[in-house]
Order: sequence, then C-alpha cells, then structure tokens
Amino acid sequence: ITTFGAALGGAAAVILILLQRNNLSLKARLQHALSQNRLTVEYQPIVDVATGRPVAAEALVRWRENGEWIPPDVFIPVAEKAGLINRLTICVIDHVLSDMAASLDANPDFHISINISAADLFDRHFGALLALRLKEANVANNQIALEITERSTANAADAKEAIERLRSRGHKIYIDDFGTGYSSLAYLGELNVDGIKIDKSFTQTIGTSSVSVSIVPQIIDMARAHGLAIVVEGIETTAQRDYFAALKPKVDGQGWLFGRPASAITIKKALEPVA
Ligand code: C2E
Ligand code: CA
Ligand code: CA
Ligand code: CA
Repeated sequence: ITTFGAALGGAAAVILILLQRNNLSLKARLQHALSQNRLTVEYQPIVDVATGRPVAAEALVRWRENGEWIPPDVFIPVAEKAGLINRLTICVIDHVLSDMAASLDANPDFHISINISAADLFDRHFGALLALRLKEANVANNQIALEITERSTANAADAKEAIERLRSRGHKIYIDDFGTGYSSLAYLGELNVDGIKIDKSFTQTIGTSSVSVSIVPQIIDMARAHGLAIVVEGIETTAQRDYFAALKPKVDGQGWLFGRPASAITIKKALEPVA
C-alpha cells in the first residue's frame, strides 16, 4: 500500500508540476499577447425578448494563438491570478471604444456591457480611468454598463461602496451569472445594483423540465421586488424565448437563438436603420 501510495503521490506531483508549468507558460503567453495587443473582442446582442430588437451588446474577449482559440474561461482566471486582469480589462475597453464609439453616438439608447473582475471593481482609480477614455472617445458613461460576478460581491460592505462609486459616474451595474454564487440572494437588497443576468443554467430549466420545478420564477419575482432590470442569458430555443417573452414587465435576453458572439461589423449592421 505504501509503495502504491508513493507511486500515486509521485504521479500527482508530476501532474501538478506539469500543470504549474503549463500555467506558467499560459501566463507568459498571455503577458506577451497583451503587450502585442493580440486580444480581440466579439459582441453578442442583448435583445428585448418580446421583439428581438437589440438594446445592447456584451463585449467578450477573444484570444487566438497559432490558429487556436483559447477560451476566456481558461485565461481569465490566469489573468486574475497573475495580476494581469486590469490590463486586460483596459484592453477590452479600448477595443470597444475603437469598434463602437461611432455606433454608440448614433444610438444613444444602446449600450455596451463589459465584464469586469473584482480587481477592477475594487480599484479606486478604475472609474476615473474609464471616464477619461470614454471622454476621449466622446462616449457617454451611461452607454457603458459593467457586469460583475456574484463572487466579487462576497464582502457586501466593500462591494456596496465600490458599486456606488461606479454608479455615481453613470454606469449601470449588473450582477452576472446570477444564482450560481453563494451570497448574493441575501445581499441583493443591500447592494444597490441596476440589474441581474440570470445564469444560463437556469434558462436551460425552461422547456426541458417542468416550469414548476424551475426556480426561475422565484428569481424573477425577487429581482422585481428589488426593482431590478433582468437579462436572461443562454436563450437557445423558441420555447425558452416564448416563456420569457410572455413576462410583464419585459425582460431582456441573450443567447444563440438571437445571435452568437460575432465581430463588431455584425452588431453594427444590426443597429443600422432598415432602409
Ligand atoms: P459570461 O460573462 O457569462 O458570458 C456569456 C458566455 O456565454 C459567453 O461565453 C457566451 O459566448 C456564452 N453564450 C452566449 N449565449 C449562449 C447560449 O445561448 N448558450 C450557451 N451555452 N452559451 C452562450 P465566452 O465568450 O466563452 O465567455 C466565458 C466567460 O469568460 C464569460 O462568461 C465571462 O465570465 C468571461 N469573460 C469573457 N470576456 C471577458 C472579459 O472581457 N473580461 C472578463 N473579466 N471576463 C470575461
Ligand atoms: Ca457577462
Ligand atoms: Ca453570465
Ligand atoms: Ca460566466
């Protein structure tokens, strides 16, 4: 048993070393990609579910290296751990402004939603830095919304203050992946955000299982009780769309049924008035 245990421990150690080495190189590669401005951004429409009309778009970072796409779920945690996330966020913001400033100016009711990490939320200079860039690009603060994760609001008092700082500059704040965290349901009333994005895992309970076993209605009731805007993520089927389209007041939605993340050109086309 001891030999077996040692062998197992040895194998685990080797795997750990490989993982660490792999991580180290991912970090170095990401650093390089950032310095070479190699990350790009795609946009996914956020629509009024009932009409399908785009009301906003979410900016999603993309990294392609040697013909291979590295998913953000893989490199965002690396960026966060390596202290590279503030740079990455600014890089996304710069892409958004160069891609979308003119369209935002032409569509004052349209906004772009950007994902920020805890390190951005709690950076006291982030709001001012963002404001400076927006001013240079002639984009109104209220046309940039910020998505924060439930995890970054784990310390409710700190989060509340940080959220207030950004809201006072005119940014709408959404809690992303709502329902998947551990704390938010209790803190929601205190946090003073503008809206929630219901995680796609909940959306997927509509149409596949009976609505009576889904907690989506409770999430929606709770959000309404707090006066929050609702964005439903991961709408893939017409059954899901129809369920959410029937809700009053209206909810916004996002998902493959309405549009996959795509280049800026696609979202700009969708914004052009039909001739
Ligand atoms: P998220 O913020 O929840 O973004 C939505 C994710 O769901 C995106 O994955 C999008 O492509 C995917 N999605 C959209 N519609 C559907 C659908 O109908 N069905 C399914 N199954 N998936 C759908 P993506 O682009 O791979 O991003 C993954 C995560 O990486 C994001 O989740 C976000 O947490 C993070 N992320 C992406 N871009 C950024 C960024 O610029 N900054 C930060 N901090 N995080 C980012
Ligand atoms: Ca998001
Ligand atoms: Ca989400
Ligand atoms: Ca997510």
